[in-house]
Amino acid sequence: MPPVLANYYLTYKCNSRCTYCDIPVKPENIPIKEVAPEVIIENLHALKRLGVKVVDFTGGEPLLYKHLPVVLKEAKRLGFFTSVANTGTLYPAKAESLRGLIDDLKFSLSTIDPEFYKSERGISGFYKVIESLKIAKSLGERPSIIATATPESLAGMEDVIGLAQEMGVVVLLGPVFDFCDNELLQAEGIAQIHRLAKYDNVCVNWAFTQFFLDGGNNIAKPRCKAISSTIVVSPDDHLLLPCYHMHDERLKIKHEDGRSNLDEIWHSTHVQNRKAEEGSWGFCQGCTIWCYFEASFLWPPDKYFLLNLKSKWRWGNEKLKQLVEQKSGLCLTRKLAGDKDKIMKAISTNPLNSPASKPTAEIIC
Ligand code: SF4
Ligand code: SF4
Repeated sequence: MPPVLANYYLTYKCNSRCTYCDIPVKPENIPIKEVAPEVIIENLHALKRLGVKVVDFTGGEPLLYKHLPVVLKEAKRLGFFTSVANTGTLYPAKAESLRGLIDDLKFSLSTIDPEFYKSERGISGFYKVIESLKIAKSLGERPSIIATATPESLAGMEDVIGLAQEMGVVVLLGPVFDFCDNELLQAEGIAQIHRLAKYDNVCVNWAFTQFFLDGGNNIAKPRCKAISSTIVVSPDDHLLLPCYHMHDERLKIKHEDGRSNLDEIWHSTHVQNRKAEEGSWGFCQGCTIWCYFEASFLWPPDKYFLLNLKSKWRWGNEKLKQLVEQKSGLCLTRKLAGDKDKIMKAISTNPLNSPASKPTAEIIC
């Protein structure tokens, strides 16, 4: 099968400092410069030639890349399904320019407590995220919340689900993966996630939670297809092998007469040889880096393939419900019972009246 997904890192810079991520602070990442949009567009054409279907523009905070609307416009013109996960703290200022360009727009949020948000993410951005959800909906987008469950945030997830139900958005709920020696959920935590998965608006990828419970990738029988399923491009125009998180190789992409050789690099003997070894290196043992497994589970058919399919079906249904609710004004959601005071207060607080909540934004390029 040809690669289906591109994880396109536009920048490693970020205005947040999440406790479970080192992307913006990793010493090797700090000097890395972003490239001009023309370079990215040439790579998009190469991704098209490779047969890629989905481009996830990521980072860092992808909204810090000031040419994001230009590259998204070209990605849409080329027929890609576009995905952007962002903090939601910079979206209000850019929403108009991004309107209609992102098929899967996701904001990260794992709490409804502004103080907990600050302790987890290093900035006071909670109310901006709420504002972003409201603006996105008012512009006709169908945003989702990405909720990363850590041992600290798991207890507050029911409130996040309540908030999502009140706001008419989907929650993509999953456990934090092991990347920065951060503390992981145990089987009990995964059982909690499975309990929450039964509520309306919640999407859990059961293939991933099962894989997590099974101990992750086994180098003796690798399930990872990071190289064959996913193309990873760095902000400074390199193909990263085998994946962003554990890359040990950066292959410079060349551009000549308006053409990128990214597809030729991927077809090269060297990359194909590495592809034959994907998931079998020592650092791959026990890996649960989710960014590569959703696409890895697309083949061959096994229990993860089936659970992934089941999860996608659920996601499709939830997004369809969101669309119908948005278009018709009907409420088709079975909401959580109980006291909603905290949730309604979190939703109704107007960040525009709360200058202290405004995050600092670093503009690049
Ligand atoms: S918002 Fe994303 S890139 Fe930024 S620190 Fe958090 S997890 Fe890392
Ligand atoms: S198993 Fe994990 S570390 Fe190894 S190549 Fe796949 S995603 Fe990267």
